Amino acid sequence: MSSLANKVAIVTGASSGIGRAAAKLFAAEGAKLVVSARRQAELDELVTEIEEAGAAAIAVAGDIKAEATARRLVDVAKERFGGLDVAFNNAGATGEMGSVPDISVAGWDETLATNLTSAFLNARHQIPAMVERGGGSLIFTSTFVGYSIGFPGLGAYAASKAGLIGLAQVIAAEFGAQRIRANALLPGGTDTPAGRTVISTPEMRKFVEGLHALKRLAEPEEIARSALYLASDASSFMTGSALLVDGGISVART
Ligand code: NAP
Repeated sequence: MSSLANKVAIVTGASSGIGRAAAKLFAAEGAKLVVSARRQAELDELVTEIEEAGAAAIAVAGDIKAEATARRLVDVAKERFGGLDVAFNNAGATGEMGSVPDISVAGWDETLATNLTSAFLNARHQIPAMVERGGGSLIFTSTFVGYSIGFPGLGAYAASKAGLIGLAQVIAAEFGAQRIRANALLPGGTDTPAGRTVISTPEMRKFVEGLHALKRLAEPEEIARSALYLASDASSFMTGSALLVDGGISVART
């Protein structure tokens, strides 16, 4: 099974959690990878693991808020691997938490820049590269928060992540004729460092686990498998969608 054979993929937020798991899975499925995040050492370790497994990857460290990072990721994909087919725009952060009137304007701006404007900047460079290639798949990591549930304390995060769904819809409509697909992936609570910023105590963890119909958090690998689905031809007729992979948190009421 090599569902991404001969494909070149960018994965952002690859130093940890969902992005790291997706990078390893995409590589195992035959993709050549450009992996990105701010922490160089973690990226280098990931590249070594991928290479030891017999696949190809290159690390590009940078802040996702900077357009220079977006441009460089696409340039490296083209220079090193000949083009771009898949972009898993996954880097993100919970940002400043608090009731909406208490969120600082600086915290709001930082969260929007990290989670939403970064996606626009990346798409700006990824789409023309995919048009040159004759098609491609963009995936944006959104969340159930702000889509199916108004989780208290996460106003800036919810707004930034809901914006990704709108962005994916418009890209889908604008570039479908050029065989470019764009979808949002909406994970439920996932056991990663970012997930644990919301879950600060064992009691909180139990509470959040209990909100899910499946009564647990996801492992990053479970979300990575859904990203692979959206990246590969398995989802060839899927575009402009918001794919909930949320353990049933959106439907559970106990
Ligand atoms: P994670 O393990 O903390 O990973 C977050 C990744 O984003 C890291 O690789 C981090 O790398 C990168 N990142 C954050 N800010 C960045 C910046 N300014 N520039 C470049 N890279 C940056 O958490 P995760 O749960 O896997 O998060 C991945 C995505 O899933 C995020 O968009 C998150 O919002 C979303 N999500 C998570 C959950 C959950 O419960 N965990 C649920 C729904 C959605 P560096 O620190 O090395 O820069």
